[in-house]
Amino acid sequence: MKKNDEIEILIEDMGEDGLGIGHLPLSEGGTFTVFVKDAVLGDRVRAVVTKVKKHYAYAKMLALLAPGAYRVEPVCPVAARCGGCSMMQLAYSEQLRLKERRVSSCLSRIGKIETPEKYALPIVGMEHPYRFRNKMQFPVGVGKNGEVQMGFYAGRTHSIIDQKTCAIGHPVNTYVTDALRELFSAWRRRYEDIIYDEMLHKGLIRHVLTRVGFETGELMVCLVINGKRLPNGCDEEMTKALDKALDAYHRDLSEGRIEEGPGVGEIRLTSLSCNINREKTNRILGDSTVTVSGSDRIAEVLGGNRFLISPQSFFQVNPVQTEKLYAKAVAFAGLTKDETVWDMYCGIGTITLALARIAKRVYGVEIVPQAIEDARENAAANGVTNVEFFTGKAEEVIPKLYAEDPAKYRADVVVVDPPRKGCDPALLDTLLSMSPERIVYVSCDPATLARDIAYLSDGGYELKAYQPFDQFCHSSHVECVSLLQRMSNTQSKEIRYL
Ligand code: SAH
Repeated sequence: MKKNDEIEILIEDMGEDGLGIGHLPLSEGGTFTVFVKDAVLGDRVRAVVTKVKKHYAYAKMLALLAPGAYRVEPVCPVAARCGGCSMMQLAYSEQLRLKERRVSSCLSRIGKIETPEKYALPIVGMEHPYRFRNKMQFPVGVGKNGEVQMGFYAGRTHSIIDQKTCAIGHPVNTYVTDALRELFSAWRRRYEDIIYDEMLHKGLIRHVLTRVGFETGELMVCLVINGKRLPNGCDEEMTKALDKALDAYHRDLSEGRIEEGPGVGEIRLTSLSCNINREKTNRILGDSTVTVSGSDRIAEVLGGNRFLISPQSFFQVNPVQTEKLYAKAVAFAGLTKDETVWDMYCGIGTITLALARIAKRVYGVEIVPQAIEDARENAAANGVTNVEFFTGKAEEVIPKLYAEDPAKYRADVVVVDPPRKGCDPALLDTLLSMSPERIVYVSCDPATLARDIAYLSDGGYELKAYQPFDQFCHSSHVECVSLLQRMSNTQSKEIRYL
C-alpha cells in the first residue's frame, strides 16, 4: 500500500480521535489496519490513502458506498470538519456502546483484567446530549480576506472555522461571539496588529474563553492576549458590547427564540478579564489574569456546595453529568465519617468538599495555585472545616508529607482524578505504601487508567467495579470511575516497584 492508493473498506470500529477503523487482508496472511477520516462504524467506503506506516495507514473517505446502520445526519453543519465533535455522525446510542467497549478493551489489554465486563456498571449517557458544555475556548484569527474569524479549530489543524453557533455549547455563546467578532473587526480597522498571528507570534488577541455557571447564571468572559493589556478605551468598549449582547440574549429568551436546556435562563456578566499568554505555545491560558470588570471568578453550585472558579482552574465541562459522576465517586469511597481521605488532583475542591461531609478529614493536593486558592475559599464559604489543601505536584507533595508524618497523612481511602496522562509512578508507589483500604480512580483516559490499575493490581489491589460516564458527548473521550480494593495480606502479591 502506498500514498494516494484508492481502497474499499468496511469500518469495523472507531478510534480515540473519531477515525473509522477497518482492516484490509494482506496477501501474505493477516490484516493491515487503516484509520479512515470521515467514516463511521458500519460504513463501507471508498477511501484514498494519505499516509502509510509500518503496521497501519491513514486514509480519507472519498465516497460512502453503503452507510452503516448507525450513521446519522449531524445536528451541526460543520461537525465533519470541526475538531470538537468527532463522532456526531454516529447515533448517540452507538457512541455510548463504543465508549463502553473502549474502556473494557483498555482494561483487558492494558490493565490485564480478565473479564472486565464482570465489574462494569452501564455507561451513564445524557438524555439530551446537546447544549451541555459550560466552557468554550474560541480561537481568534484573521481569514484570507482580512476578516476577523472566531470559532473552532478544524480537526487536527489550527485553521479556524468561523462558526456562529455550537450545538454542544450554552446558547449565550453565540451572542457573546457575535458581539466580539464585530468589536474585534472594528478594532482591527484601528489597530492593525490587534489579532494574534500564530505563525508570526505577533498581535494581541489569541483566544476568548467563556464559562457559564448553569445554576447561578454567572458568565465569565476572558480574553487571552499576547501582551499586558488592551489599548486604551478597549476595556470599556468590550464591557458595553457584551452588555448589549446579553440584552439581545434576554430579549430572544423572553420571546421564546432560545431552546430550553440546562443553564438556559437569566445570565449576568459577572467576570470580564484578560489572561496574559506571551509564549509561543499551543497552551491556551497563560499564568496570570487581570480583571477588567466585575469579579475575578464566577460561582457555580454543584452537589449542594457553592464553588468559585478562576479562569485558570479546572472545572468539569458538563455540569449535568458531573453531579452523577461525583455521586458515584463518593459512593465508591464508602465513607462513614470515620475515615481520613486524600483527594489527589483536587482542582478547586469539588470532590474534596463532597467527601468532607461524610469523612473525618480530607486532604487535597493540586498543581495550579489559583485552584488551591479557590479550593480554600470554597471550603470556608461552604462551612467545611475538616479539609486541608496543598499546592504542588501530587507526586512530590504526597511522598514528602507521608515520609515526614505517616500517621498523620496516611489515608483510609484515596481518590485520584488525574489529567489524561494518569498518575506518576512515584505517586502510585506512595499510594501502595500508604495502603488505603479503597482507591477511587476518576479517569478521563481509559488507557492510562488501565496502565495504573495494572500497577496497583501488582501492588495488591483488586478492581471491584467501574462505571463510564459520558461527559463529552459526540467526542471520542470518555470518563470513568473505578473502585479498587486492597486485597487481604495473604492474597496480595509482591509490590513490584517499591
Ligand atoms: N478533581 C478535580 C480536578 C480534576 S482535573 C475536579 O473534578 O474538578 C485534574 C487536575 O489535576 C487539574 O486541576 C490539574 O490542574 C491537576 N494536575 C495536573 N497535574 C498535576 C500534578 N502533577 N499534581 C497535582 N495536580 C495536578
